[in-house]
Amino acid sequence: MREAIVEQAVTTYFNRQFPKFSTSQQCGVQFGVKQGIADVILHQPIRDETGYFVAIAECKRLPLPIPRAQARAQLKGYMSATNTQYGVLAVGTDPGNWEFCENKYNNWFVEINQEDFERGIENWKPVSARTSHWWKRIALFLGVLFIVSILSLLLLWPDPPEPIVYITETGRKYHTYNCDFLKQNAHGKFAIYLDEAERNYDPCRICSPHRTEKSR
Ligand SMILES: [Zn+2]
Repeated sequence: MREAIVEQAVTTYFNRQFPKFSTSQQCGVQFGVKQGIADVILHQPIRDETGYFVAIAECKRLPLPIPRAQARAQLKGYMSATNTQYGVLAVGTDPGNWEFCENKYNNWFVEINQEDFERGIENWKPVSARTSHWWKRIALFLGVLFIVSILSLLLLWPDPPEPIVYITETGRKYHTYNCDFLKQNAHGKFAIYLDEAERNYDPCRICSPHRTEKSR
């Protein structure tokens, strides 16, 4: 069995299982200054570029020509060099014999079953969607900050002083402090709150205290 047959089996599996992504064979991967070739990659192209790697498959023919640990190390090397979350060690053409793994984070690799592999890729979010959300968080934070400041202004802002109007000892009207009628005719005046005055007195027609005091 040639390795190319395994690569074709993986490509067919990727295309059938994950039609929303693209598949490429023999894809160059940069390891620092060295260049390696990943056998099959599942990726999300961006414009004409390879875009984001979703999964990498390391393909081996049967019987496995190198120690399994070495094959796994190759796959993990490709995954960490490209920051790829999912990997397949495809030995032979039968998916039942393949190993699936996930790079959880910081190159912590765990073996997963095929079902979790497929579900994980179905829910895969491109790297850009994970990292470019910082500005949304800042916008949300600023929005919340703005609302909290407005609310606290409304709650903590001191109430305006109760409007004060003036009455005389015998009159039936209430007045502003500077009312001409009060100055000319009254010897004494008493301050009362406007709401109390409105209940028991009528507004003076000269100084219109019901208008001027409320709008203060
Ligand atoms: Zn008056």
